[in-house]
Amino acid sequence: MSIVRSPQGYFLSTLLANETWLSHAFGTAAAAPPHVYLVLNQVHSNVVLLAGECGPDSEGDGLITNEAGLFVAAKSADCVPLLLADPVHHVVAAVHAGWRGSLANIAGAAVERMTKEFDVRPSDLVAALGPSIGPCCFEVGPEVAVLFRDVFSERNDLDRRTTIDLWETNRRHLRQAGLLPERIDTPPPCTCCGGKEFYSWRRDHIQGQRMFAAIGRLPNH
Ligand SMILES: [Zn+2]
Repeated sequence: MSIVRSPQGYFLSTLLANETWLSHAFGTAAAAPPHVYLVLNQVHSNVVLLAGECGPDSEGDGLITNEAGLFVAAKSADCVPLLLADPVHHVVAAVHAGWRGSLANIAGAAVERMTKEFDVRPSDLVAALGPSIGPCCFEVGPEVAVLFRDVFSERNDLDRRTTIDLWETNRRHLRQAGLLPERIDTPPPCTCCGGKEFYSWRRDHIQGQRMFAAIGRLPNH
């Protein structure tokens, strides 16, 4: 399992690519996903909605659907895009997990909502983390670092300027929600030091530059 560049230029999870009933893509600055998709007004929350609940102004950071042919997406430029799929019930989710959403356990909230609405078993789920800022580049001040004490209880350096691993934060939350480690595809490339094919807020500070990560059940599947 790994996150790899496709011939078209977007990135794919080899784990999700094994699921022939769905299509997915982690878009880059150079290559958008080849889908038409629904995306929320993202607000760094842990609010997860069903696609059927959404209007044009809906706010939240996770979208779930089991509708064939309907693609859901998360947009980001350093924040972690997380795609989830249930091979049993053919339910998918796209999640936007910045540091605030990651801290608020939006990954766990998405798994919980999938479980509640569609009888998904967390141990069946496949998850993949897309291109986002890595522990190599996500340096934060003590006021942010200290908030991660519950996630990284083994660390004793969170009272000062340090780096935070948002990938590991989301991996831990997914494991706590019941996902199997071998069904979480990671690590993705770092948007900040991985080159100009990625947008990076931290590196460039340019408003409106966003990459889209999309997933959906194929028509007739
Ligand atoms: Zn980096």
